[in-house]
Amino acid sequence: MLYSSAGILALIIHLIINYDVLRKSGKESISVHRSYRQFLTAVMVYYISDICWGILYARHLIFLTSLDTSIYFAAMACSILFWTRYVVEYLKEESFFGRLLHTIGKLLFGFQIFVVAVNFFLPVLFSFDETGAYHAEGARYVTMIIQIGMYLMTSSYAISVSARSEGSTKFRHLTIGLASLAMTGFISAQVQYPLLPLYAIGCMLACCIMHSFVFENEKEEYRDELEEKLKENIRKGNYYDLLTGLPGMTYFFELAEKKRTEMIKTGGQPVFLFLDLSGMKFYNQRHGFAQGDRLLQDFANLLIRAFGSENCSRFAQDHFAVFTQGEGLREKLDQLFQDWESGKHAECPAIRVGVYEDQLDQADISTACDRAKAARDVIRGVYVSAVHYYNSAMLVNAERKHYIISHLEEAMEKKWIQVYYQPIVRAANGRVCEEEALTRWIDPERGLLPPADFIPVLEEARLIYKLDLYVVDQILEKNQHLKESGLFLVPQSVNLSRSDFDSCDIVEEICQRVDRAKMPHSLFSIEITESMVGSDLEFIRQQTDRFRALGFPVWMDDFGSGYSSLDVLADIQVDLIKLDMRFMQQFDKGDKGKIILTELIRMALSLGIDTICEGVEREDQVEFLREIGCTKLQGFYYAKPMPMNAILERYEKGTQIGFENPDETAYYDAIGRINLYDLDGISKEEEDTFRHYFSNLPMAIVEVRGDKVRFTRSNQAYRDFMERTFAISLTGLDTSFEPVTRLGTTFIAMLKKCCKEGGRVVFDEKVSGGMMIHSFMRRIAENPLSGTIATAVVVLAVSGED
Ligand code: C2E
Ligand code: MG
Ligand code: MG
Repeated sequence: MLYSSAGILALIIHLIINYDVLRKSGKESISVHRSYRQFLTAVMVYYISDICWGILYARHLIFLTSLDTSIYFAAMACSILFWTRYVVEYLKEESFFGRLLHTIGKLLFGFQIFVVAVNFFLPVLFSFDETGAYHAEGARYVTMIIQIGMYLMTSSYAISVSARSEGSTKFRHLTIGLASLAMTGFISAQVQYPLLPLYAIGCMLACCIMHSFVFENEKEEYRDELEEKLKENIRKGNYYDLLTGLPGMTYFFELAEKKRTEMIKTGGQPVFLFLDLSGMKFYNQRHGFAQGDRLLQDFANLLIRAFGSENCSRFAQDHFAVFTQGEGLREKLDQLFQDWESGKHAECPAIRVGVYEDQLDQADISTACDRAKAARDVIRGVYVSAVHYYNSAMLVNAERKHYIISHLEEAMEKKWIQVYYQPIVRAANGRVCEEEALTRWIDPERGLLPPADFIPVLEEARLIYKLDLYVVDQILEKNQHLKESGLFLVPQSVNLSRSDFDSCDIVEEICQRVDRAKMPHSLFSIEITESMVGSDLEFIRQQTDRFRALGFPVWMDDFGSGYSSLDVLADIQVDLIKLDMRFMQQFDKGDKGKIILTELIRMALSLGIDTICEGVEREDQVEFLREIGCTKLQGFYYAKPMPMNAILERYEKGTQIGFENPDETAYYDAIGRINLYDLDGISKEEEDTFRHYFSNLPMAIVEVRGDKVRFTRSNQAYRDFMERTFAISLTGLDTSFEPVTRLGTTFIAMLKKCCKEGGRVVFDEKVSGGMMIHSFMRRIAENPLSGTIATAVVVLAVSGED
């Protein structure tokens, strides 16, 4: 029983300490681990047979004991074979010792298995007598002695190596040395005492030594290995894009720098490409992100095939860069497009490529990629695969952009950026009733830069809000100055850009500034454009509503320049629309444009929205706009935008158009809003007199001051009528009041009545030649300052004419 107990104890300890190694599947990739596990398994079988042996032997079950003894020796043979293999691998011994040990292991294994087999027929290893007593035979001593020799040799070699070495070699050799020493001792004792479980105890001790030394050491190594792997992964993550496996941007810059130097040395032409896929966003929305990722991976693989993996990079999203040779590029790109389109992806987005040929000025790599991207930007809106090359004009452009962005602060500080003011003139009285603030950048190096040069750049850089707030400050300063000079203050309008609303709370910023300057909000108009509304209608609506709620009038600039002017007008509440200057540019191109303009103004009047027409350059345009009820006019006909000093100078010289007195504003608003072509309903009944759209009923606005009158506004039909009937010419912009003498007596009486009593009158008047004039008259408004009264006069019908 003692025998079995030692085996049981050894097995239990063995299982406890080697549980995790034994439990692993036999698929270890590292050979040393496999050998160790095999060794431990063989030892375990050996222990089990040892336990059984004690039990069977005590019960005198000779046959079974004999069978078990054979298993015992076979397991021992296996353990020796695996042990030697393990030691050689573990100690990384490729020396003579290693080879010797390996050979001994194999020979011993072969010998022992051989004698176990022979022992079934001839007792060479062990035998049992009739009483069942166990007898060790010659071969047992041979194998034991060889084992003692082998362990002794191993321990002395390993311990001596450990004494000479450092680090893990020392440690490993010492472990094997001590374990072998333990085995040597116990096997020696076993030879003497065959019935004591000494071999098992030796194995147990050796395994314990190995476990505590080897395993702890291995764990540490494993930890180091893990750490190293982790570092490698982090390094890879930094260097490579995880989705496509392509070099990341920073690493790509490093690689491209080296390759460019080599390429230039060998006379090559370095080229940088920036590629992206059009409509990637929609692709993701339609097919999901996972499919989108697969698409990007496939695209990366195509790039690798065309240019090589270390020459391509994924910067972000669907943005890729490539460094390559200029020669044969076009063919390569054509092939790429073809492969992509014939690939497995349905609805595959088109490829847009920007090419920068690195010959312009050998820019650094990131700039070169930037330039390739700038070339791609030119074809940003293209939805078929396309290539665009960077050129020197773009280089100049990029340089200009950079100059503008980097000098903005200085330009504002040193007043290189100046605010110019363009007057907006009231059609009814020819006086300045508003002014628009427009910026000019007068650069000490580059001369005058128009807004078209710097506004889009600042908009793109999202810095325009700084400029716009600067304009607000300048306007407030100017108003203060005008006030001190005793001049009337007219409302000022400021242009805003879309990004103003994203960069800051522009409503709050403007409001605070205007309040600080104690300026009424109504004197500060905000110009927005329909293009600004874009896709974010709700947001812009909220912001414009905030402006209006605070009392800032909101204007829609460049109305009619886009495709959705009317939609925007329906969604956003504005106080005024500024008709785009294209209407004036097309003024001479037939009546169509004029009809649209007339209808737009009529519509604005119906909606209670004021109108300005911009780009007015000629007198006939002014005349027409006054007739159709456009209340305010802006354009070079009156004045170009000019700085405040120029305005003051013109005042001093008396050449400035006077500012409107704010007290008269309501009066002029009222007379300006009448559309002299707005009797469509009546004119339909009178087809004969309405030869075409602009041959309308004769209509005029007549102002009466005392016993003098002024035909402030009139349409062409009225002017023709006056010319023919009374030989009175109303052409040109009449500004003077005349005595009423040449007009019909009923007309004068009715005019006086209408002015005095208000309301509307319809009357007939017989004039020379037996002609009867059927007219309509209505009082419109009274000027609170001068007492002038405005009436509208319409000639409804003329009869009895020759
Ligand atoms: P806008 O607001 O539509 O300004 C009217 C433009 O038409 C001005 O050009 C003005 O000088 C020009 N103009 C006025 N009357 C006539 C005319 O009779 N004939 C012709 N041919 N042109 C006329 P400008 O000053 O070059 O401004 C261009 C655009 O730049 C402005 O268009 C406005 O959208 C923008 N802008 C100007 N200053 C600023 C600013 O400070 N901030 C922002 N965000 N945009 C500004
Ligand atoms: Mg404007
Ligand atoms: Mg405009």
